[in-house]
Order: sequence, then structure tokens, then C-alpha cells
Amino acid sequence: MKITFPHMGTAYIPFRALIQGVGYHAVVPPRCTQKTLALGTRHAPESACLPLKINIGNYLEAQQQGAEGILMAGGIGPCRFGFYGTVQKEILQDIGIALEMLIIEPPQQGWSAFINQLSYLTRKVTKGEIAQTLALTWAKFTACDRLEKESLKTRAYEATLGDTSRVLHHSLELVDQASSLQMVRQAVRTGLTSFKAVAKDLDREVLTVGVVGEIYTLLEPFANFYLEERLGELGVIVQRQVWFSEWILHHIVLSAFKKRRNGNLLRLAKPYLTHFVGGHGLETVAHTAAMAKTGADGIIHILPFTCMPEIVAQSILPEVSRDYQIPVLTLVVDEHSAEAGIHTRLEAFVDLLHNHKRAFQKASKGVETFGKKEMYPIA
Ligand code: SF4
Repeated sequence: MKITFPHMGTAYIPFRALIQGVGYHAVVPPRCTQKTLALGTRHAPESACLPLKINIGNYLEAQQQGAEGILMAGGIGPCRFGFYGTVQKEILQDIGIALEMLIIEPPQQGWSAFINQLSYLTRKVTKGEIAQTLALTWAKFTACDRLEKESLKTRAYEATLGDTSRVLHHSLELVDQASSLQMVRQAVRTGLTSFKAVAKDLDREVLTVGVVGEIYTLLEPFANFYLEERLGELGVIVQRQVWFSEWILHHIVLSAFKKRRNGNLLRLAKPYLTHFVGGHGLETVAHTAAMAKTGADGIIHILPFTCMPEIVAQSILPEVSRDYQIPVLTLVVDEHSAEAGIHTRLEAFVDLLHNHKRAFQKASKGVETFGKKEMYPIA
């Protein structure tokens, strides 16, 4: 069977390894474009969140490339993600698309269901092959995240626009082609060496900005209008706070064994929000406070229109922003958002942060200027 899955940043690389490793043919959907979104928007309910619409577009495009089944994660908690698989299945049925949907529910939902679903997916291979596949998949998840993290630092200093992205794409290709753990490690080493070799302008006045919010819009560049690349080109070191490998570790592995996840981090959210609200809502509040403590110049909070957990966080961030005196820009995206509008807001925010930083530098030298208390979040 030919299996596809939703596009989500670089996750297609480990997903491909996982599907092929358990004996299926992986159909990677074409990269997300306006056409993908238009397809999804045509068939999804209007009030559905943006990721669901893009996912539907991914499936329809993958089906045109021969996909026969879909691998999708399930979920628990107050947000709509737990219903995604079922809703998507019904949407596809309604429009007469015959794709088998295999939903892997998280183990917290019940170990027996989780094991049954995994056994069904891995029925063609031996236990040894399953172990090898999981090891290779995990290595690729961490390799992709490692390379992306390095690119976010390098891009802010690159002397020639686009050099960092070229290195990143080439390194990711090497990770994608790697068929052993050793090859994955070698691909990461090659990538890190190439990032070091990128010509840099070390005199550039750079800013550090934390990016927080809903996981899909953080990880999928099409959904966030290539926010990280754009900020890097503006001389910003982006510190994205959500990574796929960390999400797997905390939300699937540690949670399944009832281990406390991110205890120290989540304590920072306590004065504002004391419980899980679904998705990454709680983490968004905690990460904003944590980034402010480490001296970040600003925070960008990104969420899809109607995203319930992030709307909760959005309503709290003005208070966090005031308490920690850190500027926060909120970007709400949906199918009506336009790249030019988002990029203009990013440029204005970066200008504001530069002015803010210079004002503080002057203030610390005794020159009278506006006080930090005048800062406020920018919605
Ligand atoms: S986290 Fe937000 S965008 Fe994602 S499924 Fe839940 S409500 Fe939708």
C-alpha cells in the first residue's frame, strides 16, 4: 500500500523513513502551496482551523500521486486535534475519495489500542526491523531539528542572502537519503561544517526573538509565511520554542509513562495559567516568560484563526508582556492572510525592537529616554 501523511515542515523526512521501514511505499505530498490550501479550503468546514484545511489539500494532492492510505496521529485533550483524523476521514468520504485512514492514538488514550494500531502498521516486518526503523526515524527527527536550529543562528549573520537556506536544504537532503544511523550522523556533521563556512557579517546588529504558539503553524513554513527565513534575513536570531523531536519526547514518550514534562518551564506559567488548555497554550505562556528571563528582545506568537488553546494564551500574553516588559507581536493566520501583510508587520516589529534596544542602551548610559513601562503588546 502507498501511504501518505500531512506535510509539517521537515517531518516528511523521518515520516518517509518510518513508512518505508515498516514495509510500505511512502508518498510524500508535494510541498504546501496556495493550490494545496485552496483544495483543502474548498472541502473543509469554514470554521475548521488552518492546519486541517492544509492537511486535506495534502491528501488530495498525494492521492493524485498514487497514495492509497493516510497515516495520521490522534490526540487527546480539549482542543480539536483529537477529532482531526475522524473529521478528515469523513470529509474525504463525502467527496468520494477512497483513502484508508490509519490513526495512531497516543498511548495515554489506552495502551491496548495503541499497541493494536502499531501492530497493524508493522505487521509486515520483524521485531528487529521495527527497532531499526524506530531508531532511524528518531535519528532523523533529531537531525532535522539540529540542523534547523543551527540555520536559525547562522541566517541572522549571513553576508549573502540565501546562503544559509541553501546549506540547510542540502543538509536535509543528505539526512533524507541516509539509510543508516551512521549516515544520519555524517549528514549532520557535514551540515554543521557547512553552516560554519557560510560567509558572515559579524558586525551586524542582531536581535533575538522567541517564536511561540501553535505547533503546526510553527513547524510548517507555508503556514507561517516563511517567518523564520524572513526574520533571519532581517538580522534576527529566531529561537523557536517548539520542535517536533521535543514534542514526541514530552507529549508521547514521557506523558505515556506519566513522567512530569517540562516541570520547571511550566512553573513559569503558574501565575497566569495553572492547567493544560490543549495544544501548546500552556507552553506558549511559559515560553514567553522564559524567553523574557533569558533576555530575548521580543516574542512573536503565531496561531491559526479559531485555535482554542492559543486564544487562551493570547488573552494572557498582554499581562506576561507587561510583567516581564517584553514586546509581543501576535500573528493570527488563516486562508485569507497574505504574505505581504505578514512580512510588513514583521519588518515593523523588528524596527520597533531595534528602537527599543537602542533606547535602553542609551538609558543605561544615563541619557533620558522612554521607560520600559511604556512598552505594550502589539496584537
Ligand atoms: S491546536 Fe489549535 S490549530 Fe491545532 S488542532 Fe487544536 S485548535 Fe486546531
